[in-house]
Amino acid sequence: MHMRQPEIKRTKTVCTYCGVGCSFEMWTRDRHILKVQPVAEAPANGISTCIKGKFAWDFVNSEQRLTMPLIRDNGRFREASWDEALDLVARRLLEVREAHGPDSLGFIGSSKGTNEQAYLVQKIARRIIGTNNVDNSSRYCQNPATKGLFRTVGYGGDAGTIEDIEQAEVVVIVGSNTAENHPVIAARIKAAQKLRGQKLIVIDPRKHEMAERADLFLRPNSGTDLIWASALSRYMFDHDLADREFLARWVNGVEEYRQSLAPFTLEFAEAETGIARQDLAEAAETIGRAQSVCLLWAMGITQHSRGSDASTALSNLLLVTGNYGKPGTGGYPMRGHNNVQGASDFGCLRDRYPGYEHVEDEEARKRWAEGWGISPEELSAEAGYGNFLMVQAADEGEIKAMYIVGEETAFSDSNTHNVLSGFEKLEFMVVQDVFLSRTAEYADVVLPACPSVEQEGTYVNTERRIQRSYQVLEPLGDSRPDWRILTDLAARMGHDWGYTHPSEIMAECARIAPMFAGVSYARLEGWKSQLWPVAADGTDSPLLYTDGFANEDGKANLHPLEWQPPEEAPDDEYDLLLDNGRLREQFQGTNQTGRSEGIRQQLPHGFVEVSPELAAERGIEEGTWVRITSRRDSIEFPAVITDRVRGKTLFMPIHFGKTGVNLLTGEHNDPDVQTPAYKETAVKLEVLDKR
Ligand code: SF4
Repeated sequence: MHMRQPEIKRTKTVCTYCGVGCSFEMWTRDRHILKVQPVAEAPANGISTCIKGKFAWDFVNSEQRLTMPLIRDNGRFREASWDEALDLVARRLLEVREAHGPDSLGFIGSSKGTNEQAYLVQKIARRIIGTNNVDNSSRYCQNPATKGLFRTVGYGGDAGTIEDIEQAEVVVIVGSNTAENHPVIAARIKAAQKLRGQKLIVIDPRKHEMAERADLFLRPNSGTDLIWASALSRYMFDHDLADREFLARWVNGVEEYRQSLAPFTLEFAEAETGIARQDLAEAAETIGRAQSVCLLWAMGITQHSRGSDASTALSNLLLVTGNYGKPGTGGYPMRGHNNVQGASDFGCLRDRYPGYEHVEDEEARKRWAEGWGISPEELSAEAGYGNFLMVQAADEGEIKAMYIVGEETAFSDSNTHNVLSGFEKLEFMVVQDVFLSRTAEYADVVLPACPSVEQEGTYVNTERRIQRSYQVLEPLGDSRPDWRILTDLAARMGHDWGYTHPSEIMAECARIAPMFAGVSYARLEGWKSQLWPVAADGTDSPLLYTDGFANEDGKANLHPLEWQPPEEAPDDEYDLLLDNGRLREQFQGTNQTGRSEGIRQQLPHGFVEVSPELAAERGIEEGTWVRITSRRDSIEFPAVITDRVRGKTLFMPIHFGKTGVNLLTGEHNDPDVQTPAYKETAVKLEVLDKR
């Protein structure tokens, strides 16, 4: 008998692997994902994608997906109904609040999940529980960049679009392995370099692909970025390359800042950064004489104990040279996770409501309270704990319960030992996720969520571009969309918000948050997108600062800085520096990409990059197993010998092993934002004989 094949369905979805925010059509038949088809209308990527967006979707049909809620009983998980699990979660969260107060609970929203998910996580924390202990994984990556932008220009997002990067006369990439982490943006820079003669300057201790393609590659000592950036700013003033007209019209604090640059001579910069002074001068001349400069940075800058200051120094340099507010200019912190920008924009931050209004701002608190139908006194006016401090507070017994949506905190936070110790001390822990992640193994209740392709919602990419993603497949088993789980949970805690579709959540946020006033699902239909801030009439903002800066007086602020050395540096015993980062093919702890056959074949296991000099000195050959030991613990991997690293620096991809590189990293962090200094880990190396 001839069975009719079900029709092929084509649905627009947004990639959930990086901040480029590629969108494409996913072709499916039943639950089979037949192919990913990029289309010209896609605003961030057009017809491009990378290997992850194209091929890393097998995990959706993995047999290891969670399809039923799990409750821990006598130390073991058992399956439970949604009614039982949600009742238990609602009851226990309220009990902890009653017994220990609202600030004894902590909430982590997902920076991979939708904006609507992030909005509801912070609404439950603030509106129901009454705490600002809410955060997302931007704490682990780009909060220092946001701090640098808040201090100087006012908005915590990229100054322009990917098209601006493409149009710039000069692109400067600093501490960002763009070709591996934002492959589609890297492809567009490569094309601009080739077709338009765009100049590319790369400043990075690691010689990655973009460094090899650069017109000028500078290799600073790790953690010295504030010095070379400030030296370049000083050079601009000293050599009449500062944009004096721009500074006079738009910038506060110019003279004070200029004077603060006195120590940052080229001689000092050369001595501290290791970059020859003529190379520094060449970079300064290229940047200072260009009509338009875009500066991209990422975790090579931010994951240091002074990442906020280094980010501020970069934004200062752009201001000195007048590189804001014109096409092809601006600062671009490259957002890592696909919705790390959106999770922050929509309020999963310890001190900001959706749209970045501060929780201490009375007027904002009043508006949010009115919007949620309560009195302002019911909302906490004090900033809460970010996720790094939440976990520490759990270890110290101050935080008693945590609710974690889609985050691998056990893998992503620094010093795994501390994190796991904190989890073990919690009275109650809930994880909402697609898989039984390393973090979920510590939970009392695990709620099975759908991946992006089984739910509808919106995401914000690194350009501040809000895009809709449509539901491609039905939820697997009894898994549910995040917004629905959170809405059901709120109802069981006595708050029936009645959302029947994520568009209603966005509409509520747009009514209250001025930054999103004109955002609506109708205006985001199909391939349409909006870049925040969005005025009530729907006018959006592809390029920021064209009519002034987002500070009270409309001007930017130059921010004087002092350099502080890294908190942990190599010494006699731990004589090497461990750098770490991502690879193009993998995503975080490989929960998703590791379940895609093609990707697993490409990169089955981890490795440590060792410089040719160090390999020769220690007798290491390609493939030799080595043990890397920090003050916290040890990891063993085979060595790859490469000049991507130099001298006594090692590099390790973050993705591999049960706890990844964070078994080795410490708890020292940026005092301004508590981002762990992942890139400041001193280690020693032993050569093992196993192969
Ligand atoms: Fe695009 Fe990033 Fe997804 Fe690759 S991982 S397809 S560059 S969004």
